[in-house]
Parts: sequence; structure tokens; C-alpha cells
Amino acid sequence: MNKPLILVVEDDNSVKNLITTTLKAHDYRYLTAQNGASAILEASSHNPDIVLLDLGLPDIDGVEVIKRIRTWSNMPIIVISARSEDTDKIDALDAGADDYLTKPFSVDELLARLRVTQRRLNMMQNESAAENSVFTNGKLKIDYAAGCAYLGDEELHLTPIEYKLLCLFSKNVGKVLTHTFITQSIWGSTWDNDIASLRVFMATLRKKLEKDPDSPQYIQTHIGVGYRMMKVE
Ligand code: CA
Repeated sequence: MNKPLILVVEDDNSVKNLITTTLKAHDYRYLTAQNGASAILEASSHNPDIVLLDLGLPDIDGVEVIKRIRTWSNMPIIVISARSEDTDKIDALDAGADDYLTKPFSVDELLARLRVTQRRLNMMQNESAAENSVFTNGKLKIDYAAGCAYLGDEELHLTPIEYKLLCLFSKNVGKVLTHTFITQSIWGSTWDNDIASLRVFMATLRKKLEKDPDSPQYIQTHIGVGYRMMKVE
């Protein structure tokens, strides 16, 4: 199997060196770009497996880079942001980023995000190959055709909205979904009320899905941002 190719887009040399040294030490191949224009060029000419994208670039804003790449590719994009504001991450996720890292981050965090994204990639490739109508993740099984979900041998008794939520997460496993994306997908709107309702539905869904709803195994909370279904081994 080929080593995954990572495109590292970062104008800060010390951060770029930290990332590329880490990648080299862990069997990844990489390309680098210092600004948005060359990021788009490298992404289109080399078709990397994953893009690590700094949001604060000297020419084009990182969010704009995501929007342009998304016009022709679904390649996974992990955003790296020095800005701690949630709005930047949320804009990036809504523009189509898969995940985010906030500076300063550790080497372990970086490697963990890459692994999550690779698992998601593998899962997507396997699923499109098999054209599966059944989704499995750990003990969770969803039969899309029958409209039923199971945990082990037990059928989950979900309300229609809980089931829609679960399907939305399963179809985006490994990806952080923002509150806006979720409420748009479920209700077709994004009033503040919907975000409040979303919290309520998430709580009831977790009670049914998670062994311990206080330390969930399947669905992570990203405070102020949204939720993500994790791939469970
Ligand atoms: Ca920067």
C-alpha cells in the first residue's frame, strides 16, 4: 500500500517544520505550500490524500481555499487555526473542512487527527465499493433500507428525528458536523431554537445509543461547534 500523501499548507516555517518532521517520522509522504494560491495548485496537480490547511495565509483566506477545492474535490481537509475563536473553525467546517486542530497542538494530536481521517477515508472507499445499504460501526448497525438501527442484537427504538440524526452522523462518520449543518439537514433551517432542540434530541439519542451517555463512545461533543460520530473499533 502507498504511503498517504499529505499536503501541508502553512506559511509559518516553525509550524511547517514541526508538521513535516512528524510526517516523515511516521511514514507519510508530504508536499508543502506557503500560500493559498499554491495550495490550490498543489491540491489539483497532486491529488493528496489529506490536506492540512492553516487558515491564516498571506494571500487568500483559508476558508476561501476550502471553498475552491470543494468545487471539484472531496479530499479530506483538516484545518489548522491559530485563532481560538470558534467562528473561524465553524466557517471552515461549514465550507467543507472535515476536522480542525487549534494551535498550539501536540504531535500526538496531529497524528490522532490524521488517523481519524484515514479511517474515514478507508470506510468511505469500502462502502462505495460494496454499495452497502447496511452501516456498521462497533455494535451499532443501521439498515438504511429497512429504516432500523440496532445495538448488538437489540433494536434501538428511535423517534423519526433521532433516526435521521443517527443516519446523518453515520454518513459522515469521522467528520465534525457543525450545529448549522445538522439543523439545516434535519429541519432545513437554523434558528437558535433549532440548536436548543438539537441538544435535546442529542441527549435522548445518546441515552439510547451510549452505554454511558456522560462519556459517549459513538458521538463526541465539540463544545460551541457541533458533533462527530467516531469510528469505533
Ligand atoms: Ca499562518
